[in-house]
Amino acid sequence: MLLTLEQRQVQELAREFAEGELRPHAARWDREGALPPALRRQLADLGFWGLALGEDVDGLGLDAVTVALVLEELARGETGVALWVNIHAWVAAPLLAEAAPAPVRDRWLPAAARGETVLAFALTEPDAGSDARALTTTADPVEAGWRLRGRKTWVTQGAQADAAVVFARSPDGIDAFLVPTNAPGYRVGERERTLGHRTLEIVTVDLEGVTVPGDHRLGAPGAGWALAKQALIRGRLGAAAIATGLAQAALEHAVRYATERTQFGRPIAEFEGMQFKLADMAIRVEASRALTRRAAAALTAADPAAPTLASMAKTFASEAAMAVTTEAIQVFGGYGYMRDYPVERLFRDAKATEIYEGANDIQRVLIARVLTHQP
Ligand SMILES: Cc1cc2nc3c(=O)[nH]c(=O)nc-3n(C[C@H](O)[C@H](O)[C@H](O)COP(=O)(O)OP(=O)(O)OC[C@H]3O[C@@H](n4cnc5c(N)ncnc54)[C@H](O)[C@@H]3O)c2cc1C
Repeated sequence: MLLTLEQRQVQELAREFAEGELRPHAARWDREGALPPALRRQLADLGFWGLALGEDVDGLGLDAVTVALVLEELARGETGVALWVNIHAWVAAPLLAEAAPAPVRDRWLPAAARGETVLAFALTEPDAGSDARALTTTADPVEAGWRLRGRKTWVTQGAQADAAVVFARSPDGIDAFLVPTNAPGYRVGERERTLGHRTLEIVTVDLEGVTVPGDHRLGAPGAGWALAKQALIRGRLGAAAIATGLAQAALEHAVRYATERTQFGRPIAEFEGMQFKLADMAIRVEASRALTRRAAAALTAADPAAPTLASMAKTFASEAAMAVTTEAIQVFGGYGYMRDYPVERLFRDAKATEIYEGANDIQRVLIARVLTHQP
């Protein structure tokens, strides 16, 4: 797919930022288990918190292909940053733009686009993961608006966020609510200890009778599930782009190492067995990129095939990222297994892309449903 001049310029901006400001620090941030606070401002200066929001609310108004380009480049630098931007700028903020009543939109969206307000997305519950529709968090109408009670799990950056899009069961069905995180009763639990994505805080959030104003319900009564599905389609595309970016990083590390490491008197890259391994990795990365961009273009064009293509891209790219990062460790040999080298971190991060935004088994269920014309 040929990129437009604007798409290439935005891609270059993200690449320069990722190479200069993310990649050199990624290993240390992973060890320290946190992103530096200044990063939020740096991303704001680039406009990346408002990637997909309209220019009328201070966003960049980028199409899905350009969003995917940015997320790929950010992930090539540091995957946690890419996932954080994906959740705020591509999953949650567009949902608000689409469904929030005008006063809520006017109050929250420009701040969200400028990164002054960062959003989390709270759908998953302890007993409602793939079957998210089985959620049990409740939203009861009260005089002041809505009162929410329940537990949300694995809310990415749930403590850093200024507000969360929370899904709950109201008398009308499943609804989405905008919940400011400083509202009394929004209680952040302990941070999870994770395999990868260690720069992000993934937390449980308890909603202990949190009250939000009536206009903080997003969309028509009972429209929450439809909004969640739309948001997850975008999120899957984002996950595909992130998987592509981190696989690209692993490939680059592997190629460099193979040309530098000498065994049997020559660089290991000169052995045909090694060359085939690197070639297979490159094929997987390029195919992930192509399918991700194809899905993104379909989404921009409002093609009815876009949701299925997003599921395909997410599944293919995340599994390619697992395969490529596994092979990258093999290329590094014993050094690849050690935490002093970058490929084990990418391997740990890659695993999450097979799970979040809907596990790959669920993507296959969705794809097969369309193939076999099932509802
Ligand atoms: C790093 C990370 C960040 C996350 N961030 C967020 C976040 O910010 N907000 C949020 O709401 N959630 C978040 N999640 C949760 C994520 O979306 C869920 O983990 C995911 O949807 C799967 O749900 P589950 O973990 O409960 O798995 P389960 O639903 O319990 O599934 C367990 C296994 O069974 C398989 N399975 C389930 N149903 C079927 C079926 N019908 N057919 C075949 N196989 C099936 C699944 O694929 C999986 O392999 C995050 C998860 C991770 C790992």
